[in-house]
Amino acid sequence: MKEIIDEIRQAFDKDAEACKSVKEIEELKIKYLGKKGQVPALMQHLRNVAVADKPEFGKLVNDLKVYVEKALERSELFFSEKEEASKLSQESIDTTLPGRQKVLASKHPISAMIDEIVDTFISMGFSVVESPEIETDYYNFEVLNFPPDHPARDMQDTFYIEPNVLLRTHATTFQGRLLETMKPPLRVICPGRVYRNETISIRSHVFFHQVDGLYVAENVSFQDLISTMSEFIRKLFHKDVSLRIRPSYFPFVEPGCEIDMACLVCEGKGCALCKNSGWLEILGAGMIHPQVLRNCGLDPEKYSGYAWGLGVERLILLRYGITDIRLFAENDMRFLAQFPSL
Ligand SMILES: [Zn+2]
Repeated sequence: MKEIIDEIRQAFDKDAEACKSVKEIEELKIKYLGKKGQVPALMQHLRNVAVADKPEFGKLVNDLKVYVEKALERSELFFSEKEEASKLSQESIDTTLPGRQKVLASKHPISAMIDEIVDTFISMGFSVVESPEIETDYYNFEVLNFPPDHPARDMQDTFYIEPNVLLRTHATTFQGRLLETMKPPLRVICPGRVYRNETISIRSHVFFHQVDGLYVAENVSFQDLISTMSEFIRKLFHKDVSLRIRPSYFPFVEPGCEIDMACLVCEGKGCALCKNSGWLEILGAGMIHPQVLRNCGLDPEKYSGYAWGLGVERLILLRYGITDIRLFAENDMRFLAQFPSL
């Protein structure tokens, strides 16, 4: 039996020497170690060997098995490295090929406009804060001097979650939170989504976006408000735009005003968007009511300030001549794909 084992070892050495690839090694593995291979056949043969000789031959067969396994393992590693190296050497990089353009999603027009408004105010020295969308009655109404019977508190205008918890109806809710905790001078804006319980139409939706802001310091005047808003609109539209200032009422400002800008769709001639007036209201503003300052622990004799609420959707309508506010919430790719460069 020893002769047979030696013969197999010699045959294996010869076969292994002739191998030139991983594939051939795999074939050898089957020939010598596979189920019907030569080494398992030797093991079968051990059954017929005399009991006394079994330990000696058993060891010899086992040595052969380990020898074959190790030799195949080494050869396999050698050839796989060699094949990998030759594959790499055949690959080359063509540096003259044009780069592959990645298709990136574009910003939603509302996000793009908010970013632009925020950047414009930052360039004018304002800081940015965020404020919760789920708000208490206190910060949405009470601290801002809304009387208890104000119509905005009505269930028909406001989404209440609990009796004193609601979806904020304006981004001005940041005022109370800010003025309570930080000392003037403060020049801050707050962008975000707000909610109103309104009938959805081409001009109104149950949610929309505002960028509200304030400036509180000593000796702030109404003229400061007007010049800041004029400068902001001039920067945003990159040109001088006609503004119209009308007196208005908001509980948290005194005096209050609404600022309109000339309708850019019809250029003042009158169209469906501006209800034939030639003007579009873009923001409400005013001098912060002394009671609001007092509610936040500030002395109205010492400090004054202005505040405004700016409708983001309205600015987009104006810039692009879009006539239906509902398009912003419909996720229609035919609409959104028109704003790829934003
Ligand atoms: Zn118009």
